[in-house]
Amino acid sequence: GIYLDYNATTPVDPVVFHAMEPYFKEHFGNPASAAHHWGWIAENATNKARTQVASLIGAKPNEITFTAGATESNNWAIFGLISKLREENPQEPLHFITSTVEHSSIMKAMAAAEKLGVEVDFLPVNSYGQVEIETLKKAIKPHTKLMSFIWVNNEIGTINPIAEIAKIAKENQIYFHTDATQAFGKLPMNVTDLGIDLMSFSAHKVYGPKGIGGLYIRSKDPKVLINPLIYGGGQEKGLRSGTLNVPAIVGMGVAAELCKNTLEHEYERQLQLRNFFWEKLKAAIPGIILNGHPTERAPNNLNVSFPGHKSEQLLPRLQKLGVSTGSACGTGSMSLSHVLLGIGVAPDVVPCTLRLSIGRWTTQEELERAVEILKGSISH
Ligand code: PLP
Repeated sequence: GIYLDYNATTPVDPVVFHAMEPYFKEHFGNPASAAHHWGWIAENATNKARTQVASLIGAKPNEITFTAGATESNNWAIFGLISKLREENPQEPLHFITSTVEHSSIMKAMAAAEKLGVEVDFLPVNSYGQVEIETLKKAIKPHTKLMSFIWVNNEIGTINPIAEIAKIAKENQIYFHTDATQAFGKLPMNVTDLGIDLMSFSAHKVYGPKGIGGLYIRSKDPKVLINPLIYGGGQEKGLRSGTLNVPAIVGMGVAAELCKNTLEHEYERQLQLRNFFWEKLKAAIPGIILNGHPTERAPNNLNVSFPGHKSEQLLPRLQKLGVSTGSACGTGSMSLSHVLLGIGVAPDVVPCTLRLSIGRWTTQEELERAVEILKGSISH
């Protein structure tokens, strides 16, 4: 088969797997066991990984906290900030701004925040899926405390104007969080230069293992910006308790380093392959529509609609292709994609949509075959 669902998840790179292995075996120690070398080896390994991750995003190692993935990081950013702000000033009203095209872990966490009394605005986006700066400026209120926007949209690949948004947040003394899960390791970034306060990311989208990710928390000595979500033994400077998942952390570190070393080359390679794929698809399938921004999009993503052809009906004819009908990050719910509806795709066209995402091992020959398979399924 041909795997075209790298935005859902990626295989673990063999180099990553090899680096992880000893930490399941001889280096099984607990990094919190400071009394012996089993513990020290594990602690050194997690410190190294922290440095590798920090280096990819332009952060300091002590600004990286390991979590179980971007879902946890997104929830933590929101509820950790609410907890902190309420602790500091229980009477203060809170207003948060996000968009209508966020990942479900932001959409639902924000909806839960509303139930806790936080006023949340879900800003509409333009037809490409981007936050409009003028709309954003108008949404700011005196008690706005947080802006949270997705960096690269997981369904349509659109890139948000993160630098401009961060600047506006800073000017208005509003915390800025970004869900960078689909940008991490794919786009060059420097969180320090951009002035981002909080950033979520995950290893399994970039050839690392599943169930590990992190939250970048800008250091603001001597205080941290947010309270913990998970309390316990005080690991991660008390910010995120629980024994560290050492093999997974080592894996994420090596995955981050591989991304850093290959980012420029892979960006260009995948961009060319993706553009090749789109040109071939456009020529082969009349009526095909590209969703999202034509150029300001992740280099590995296509999101296409075939009006009149429900993807559910296409899927049985696409057995050799690993593609996604929705975001595939959810649990297969049949409701219409809020992202496609959010950018104004007609409700009858939304179900006729596929996300095709390429990655480190995609070849031109695979894409040529994929075009033939897709063409065959449509003309069936
Ligand atoms: N945010 C975005 C944009 C994603 O694409 C995903 C993918 O599933 C997540 C969050 C959730 O990440 P994780 O699977 O690490 O919880």
